[in-house]
Amino acid sequence: MYAASPLAADRSPDQFRRTAAVALDIDAVLCDLVGGCRATCAEFLGVAPEELSLGDNYYVPWEHKDPALTARLAPVMLDMWSRERTILGAMPVAGGLALASTIAAAGRLRSYITRRPPEVDFLTARWLREHGFPLDGVELHHVGGTNACKSVTARAVGAELLIDDSVHEATSALANGMHVVMVAMPYNRAAAIELAATYGDRFHDAADTAAALAAVTPEASS
Ligand SMILES: [Mg+2]
Repeated sequence: MYAASPLAADRSPDQFRRTAAVALDIDAVLCDLVGGCRATCAEFLGVAPEELSLGDNYYVPWEHKDPALTARLAPVMLDMWSRERTILGAMPVAGGLALASTIAAAGRLRSYITRRPPEVDFLTARWLREHGFPLDGVELHHVGGTNACKSVTARAVGAELLIDDSVHEATSALANGMHVVMVAMPYNRAAAIELAATYGDRFHDAADTAAALAAVTPEASS
């Protein structure tokens, strides 16, 4: 069970963020699953990748420039998330490998944690391995299909800080006592303002994955 670091009380929020044990989300933070899905939609539905954009709805994020087509394709496109072609064809997010490697090298990466369904865990592991993400000593948790928020698992493995793009996960992690670095996406902008106002220095809004790395590494300037 999670136990607070004895040093936690001695660290400022900024120091805490730069030294904390981390649970790391995968999609949108490390893996451009949106890009993988665009490619899969092009392959299987004939929808050109450039015609799909990421909207502001986390759960139905796909938008086609033709709203009528968006409505018709939405259920089909949701299925694209967990396809082998989508997952294995997705590229790393810029800065994602540096983020994971830096934290792991410092012995701070406790877990990759994703809301992907458990059925694709072998694909996730393969993708991480093929792109050089550190796996030794790092747990990999798939929490899709459960109602439990990621922070339950994250705290159980000793993580103090969650790096994620999901409003739901960020909110529950903060409520559960963790610090959060949120990677900015179109669907989390309004919530970022509210979370910063509510949780102060325990919440950090990062413009992208590279900014998240800068926010959590001791050597980066604040
Ligand atoms: Mg994510």
